[in-house]
Amino acid sequence: MKPTPENPAPADAAERKSVDPVICYPIGTLPAFDRPYFESARHGMTLVDTVVVQPRDASTFSVPAGHFFRIVCSEGPQVGDLNLWNANDLGERFFSGKTRALHGTHVSAGDRLWSNLPHMRPMATITFDTLDWYGWDQYGGGVHDVIGTRCDPYTNLLLNGHEYHHCCHSNLTRALAKSAGMSLSDAEPYVHDVLNVFMCTGFTADTHQYFMKASPARKGDYIEFFAEIDLLCGLSACPGGDCSVSHSSEEAQCFPLRVEVYETKASERREWRPPGRSTYSRNHGV
Ligand SMILES: [Zn+2]
Repeated sequence: MKPTPENPAPADAAERKSVDPVICYPIGTLPAFDRPYFESARHGMTLVDTVVVQPRDASTFSVPAGHFFRIVCSEGPQVGDLNLWNANDLGERFFSGKTRALHGTHVSAGDRLWSNLPHMRPMATITFDTLDWYGWDQYGGGVHDVIGTRCDPYTNLLLNGHEYHHCCHSNLTRALAKSAGMSLSDAEPYVHDVLNVFMCTGFTADTHQYFMKASPARKGDYIEFFAEIDLLCGLSACPGGDCSVSHSSEEAQCFPLRVEVYETKASERREWRPPGRSTYSRNHGV
């Protein structure tokens, strides 16, 4: 949304702008997604826990390392805002920005969800996505983004001048406070930028502003993850519903989301090793 320029283009402007882009973070050196392993493991798994996240609310759930979990649109199209914490250290949490830098604006099967510095390791791997057919639409939109932050009451107050208490940020704060036995003020700083599951988003072609459009998810669609470390997860069923019109209000039709946690059979778990934290020395040049 850059303003009309005040400065005239230089004589070589076209030449400067025509330079080819390069990928900032080529990921060819990362271990490849082991699709055969995950295909085998996910077919032998057993459902061990189910959590229903109510509309305009959030719940937490635990997933031991080596287990799978699914987020299911159980009744209709519904966007979810997902937070991930190391179950044994809430200071290690999902790093949306670096995940975006590594895997792009939207994620699907084969992509990893990375933790913050200095931990910097995969917290989860996406192993199946019933919406992977969507790809990119004519607006440049895609599903499951790591570009939005989460709807929150501060931005809503700033832009709309009133308080709304069931934004995803507040839902996640209440859920974490209840789960961890914290006060709201103690829990709030642990809530972080999310993975927007089922949300269809992109940037407009003219102003590059963040847009949303009706989620293409339908009843029964799901996205599946493999927990690389012990996880405490928070999931909010966004008050925007399918995010076709608005959020941060009571206007949209909302549905619950169902979480299913699956235990991997023991023979498959033996072949998998949890990732260690980054081995960077943390010397920082001193
Ligand atoms: Zn939301």
